[in-house]
Amino acid sequence: MFHPCESKQSRLGFSNDQNPVGDHALKTPLRFCAFHSGKIREVLRKRMRTEMEKVALITGAARGIGKATAELFLENGYHAILLDRDEEALMETHQALENTSAYLYDVSNPQAGGEIAARILSEHGRLDALVNNAGIADFGPIEEHDQSKWRRVMETNLDGVFYMTQALTPMLKETQGAILNIASISGLRASTLRVAYGTSKAAVAHLTKQQACELGEYGIRVNCVAPGPVKTKLSIAVHTPEIIQAYHDAVPLNRYGGERELAEVIYFLCSPKASYVTGQVVAVDGGFEATGVGLPALRD
Ligand code: NAD
Repeated sequence: MFHPCESKQSRLGFSNDQNPVGDHALKTPLRFCAFHSGKIREVLRKRMRTEMEKVALITGAARGIGKATAELFLENGYHAILLDRDEEALMETHQALENTSAYLYDVSNPQAGGEIAARILSEHGRLDALVNNAGIADFGPIEEHDQSKWRRVMETNLDGVFYMTQALTPMLKETQGAILNIASISGLRASTLRVAYGTSKAAVAHLTKQQACELGEYGIRVNCVAPGPVKTKLSIAVHTPEIIQAYHDAVPLNRYGGERELAEVIYFLCSPKASYVTGQVVAVDGGFEATGVGLPALRD
């Protein structure tokens, strides 16, 4: 719920760690209302925040795997910057999760990266982890992948990962931070109808290695998680009941993964516990990638 005295600018400024009600709230103690005292607690928390509080930026964090990942960073004491292009979902998640900032941006916009970097620097002063999770799935036969469909998939799934990482590398050098890119099992195993999606995700896996090789000398680790099927808005849109059943059959663990199961691996790879892991692509897929020749007829 927005307070009426909160301006549109402050709402779309989006940081609940900024000072959305201004110092005015601190100067008028006699006019407290529940809203103000909540906001003041946030302002004070920011003032009391030590310089050691870590900051993670998660793209596509309004829902699905990105949201679950943000929750895990929060549980581990990070401030989480939630970035998404879906304003309604972003604000809903931002308001549901304490100690977050909401950044409304489209990762496929080449100009956005510089603005995001400048904003993080002024609002938070540091960045410790970047999770390039925003992605779209748009499936279809090769002949129906016209230029706009091809570009739409590539510009979010691949270009976005490149732009965001490039823009935020200077900040990550300062903290010797970690980058985690989200690919897909569709980038490890080819399949029908995924000529753009699968290719974009295969490229993300290789981009991860390129980034790890080049950024290692600055202490930046870069890894990649390739999710198997996870029930989110993205997969529900492209998985029919028959496809869901077929996945259950083909995945050794016989089920879809949970968002939290993905988040656990993503967080681990960004955490100091993975301090000697870089350039790796980890399939979190119930064993799907390991099955190799997975012909149903060979199973019994
Ligand atoms: P989702 O659709 O639930 O969430 C994706 C989020 O990214 C949405 O909030 C969306 O608004 C945001 N987003 C999309 N394009 C964006 C852009 N250009 N700029 C900013 N935000 C943008 O999807 P999900 O299932 O949670 O997927 C997360 C990642 O995992 C994606 O990269 C996806 O390709 C990958 N993945 C998912 C599955 C699965 O089965 N769900 C499997 C393999 C890989």
